[in-house]
Amino acid sequence: MSFEALGLDPVILSALQEAGFKQPTTVQEQAIPAALAGHDLMVSAQTGSGKTAAFMLPALQRIVHRSANKGKGVQILVLTPTRELAMQISDATRSYGAGMTGLRSATVVGGVPYGAQLKALSRRVDVLVATPGRLIDHLKAKRVDLSGLQVLVLDEADRMLDMGFIEDMETIVAATPNTRQTLLFSATLDNSIARLARDMLRDPQRIDV
Ligand code: AMP
Repeated sequence: MSFEALGLDPVILSALQEAGFKQPTTVQEQAIPAALAGHDLMVSAQTGSGKTAAFMLPALQRIVHRSANKGKGVQILVLTPTRELAMQISDATRSYGAGMTGLRSATVVGGVPYGAQLKALSRRVDVLVATPGRLIDHLKAKRVDLSGLQVLVLDEADRMLDMGFIEDMETIVAATPNTRQTLLFSATLDNSIARLARDMLRDPQRIDV
């Protein structure tokens, strides 16, 4: 199986070539075509499985040919439990989106000063990678507009629940439109994740790898 066969855009394919990715991993092979077809997904995948590209590539593809400035507010939001994961996802986004002229991404995490985040959020942001608590602060202060969101990613959803982020996640989801696509990734898909999926996903396809 090749990345071409998954239906990815040439702009994204060349970024993958640049990154040295030759073949999709199992989770990428299963999740990318389903996400490109527009389905909501709940995916069980571990760190190291290539899950970041499994959600970020189809998410980026939705905005790949949108001209700069067209999108209103954030187009892609990734919620992840920790600052370290957020930094890794932001690095990956820059790499996968390298061919997308004018793509703007920002990272919003707790435990760091507000200055750089305020500056980043004062400009257009296409892709926002965030931990829930700090994003809530910015949302309440109306520094983030999620009303035009296209794709919501819940990364390591089980860890976000374990860390007590459920109320923050609900508040954030309530600020997004129902027309969004939602991609949930979790190491485990137990009852608490099933409940979350019932509330936040629409007719999801389940992928176990
Ligand atoms: P992740 O599970 O998303 O944290 O990815 C684990 C590591 O695998 C990261 O360093 C990625 O850059 C790398 N990676 C992801 N997908 C591929 C691929 N298809 N080919 C080679 N490396 C990959």
